[in-house]
Amino acid sequence: MILEGSTGVVDEGKLARIEMMRACILTWGCQLNHHKSEEIAGVLAAAGFSIVEKPEEADVILLNTCMVRQKSEDKVVSRVAELSRLKRERSVLIGVGGCMPQGRGSQLFSLCPTADFLFGTTGLRYLPELIQRAQRGERIAFIPEPTGLEYLPILRKSSFQAYVTIAEGCSHSCAYCVIPKVRGPLRSRPMGEILAEVEELAQKGYMEITLLGQNVDAYGLDLHDGTSFAGLLRRIGKIDIPRVRFTSSHPAYMTEEVISVLAEEKNICEHVHLAVQSGSDRVLRAMRRGYTREQFLALVERLRRAIPALNITTDLIVGFPTEEERDFEETLSLIEEVRFGTVYVAAYSPRPNTPAEALGDPVSKGEKARRLQEVLNLARKIALELHQERVGQTVEVLVEEHLPEKGMVIGKTRDFRTVLATGGPELVGTLVEVEVSGATPAALLGGVKEPVL
Ligand code: SF4
Repeated sequence: MILEGSTGVVDEGKLARIEMMRACILTWGCQLNHHKSEEIAGVLAAAGFSIVEKPEEADVILLNTCMVRQKSEDKVVSRVAELSRLKRERSVLIGVGGCMPQGRGSQLFSLCPTADFLFGTTGLRYLPELIQRAQRGERIAFIPEPTGLEYLPILRKSSFQAYVTIAEGCSHSCAYCVIPKVRGPLRSRPMGEILAEVEELAQKGYMEITLLGQNVDAYGLDLHDGTSFAGLLRRIGKIDIPRVRFTSSHPAYMTEEVISVLAEEKNICEHVHLAVQSGSDRVLRAMRRGYTREQFLALVERLRRAIPALNITTDLIVGFPTEEERDFEETLSLIEEVRFGTVYVAAYSPRPNTPAEALGDPVSKGEKARRLQEVLNLARKIALELHQERVGQTVEVLVEEHLPEKGMVIGKTRDFRTVLATGGPELVGTLVEVEVSGATPAALLGGVKEPVL
């Protein structure tokens, strides 16, 4: 660890220089990573940086990266190359951080030769010092092992929706997944701290919180004191905040108690993101997911029985090394059977230092593209049918954004459907009622009736 022993505290002379610095943070990947960027912004703002939106306006550009798939990495590498044109015009520092440096180490400098420094997924409180040292010409890769929990200031992007991390890392080790390596083992935050954060957000008037973890259902297992996700949800259900969401759920870890809490606590939204990954037992076993197709379907049935209005969304991988045509067909039939609200599908790409890397990548690119397209076509057809069933109904929507060019607003229902409705900018951040008059595979369409809150 290169900055070992450093306190991360800057002296006044250094601070004067930092105050004049503008930082731009670009983010790839999951919601956890987007929330990490809010922490990075918090650390830098506390050290005197101003945070800007555009790289062209920045003195230092930080790229908070994702390495879940090869495609995500390729995007970052080409963005770094593109940003380096700014270096020809003026002095600007480029720092590449997050999962890619954590997974690839200082070798990432060879993929991103114009990067001035690398940082990992933890040790973020040292960023101001790291930037100063890069300013002095030191080319540092600061990538500590991801252990423990960090307590960092947060600069939130939204004044009405907030992310709350409940646990870092994952200890499950699915065969294809790089997360346990780059984010470390499961580390659950103490429940009292999470509750205090949610209470504070409620007092500030936040309308919606999303609890984040790689596998929220594993929350508490590392604490060995009976702390559980169901217990946490039950307590959060009593806090006065209109909407509570959580992601991601793992089918092998979701307990009956969690299902009961979802059914009982009224502020918990009727949506579960339950990553299934494949519909074939053979592939699920090779992926080391820890459940069978039958167990997954039984879980879906229990969930729907307890919460009839529940929208279940999922993640799928096509082209896993052992996936044959018959396995793929089982995935299609699972989609038909469950009728997921949304399917997030990705083509498999081997990740470094994962158990599945040894299996190679035998499914051709063209075949993966075909399977991906078939899943998308089927998922869109089902989404349209599900959306059409809502035409004529009135739904509660949290308005997230105003689209001035369309004279419309966009937001989400409690069950995580996107809604486009006529409305003005004053509705952003409020709950409104929308009468649904039309549907597409991606959204419900309608007009705003009246504010709910
Ligand atoms: S549960 Fe599996 S897929 Fe999810 S983060 Fe952990 S190892 Fe990765």
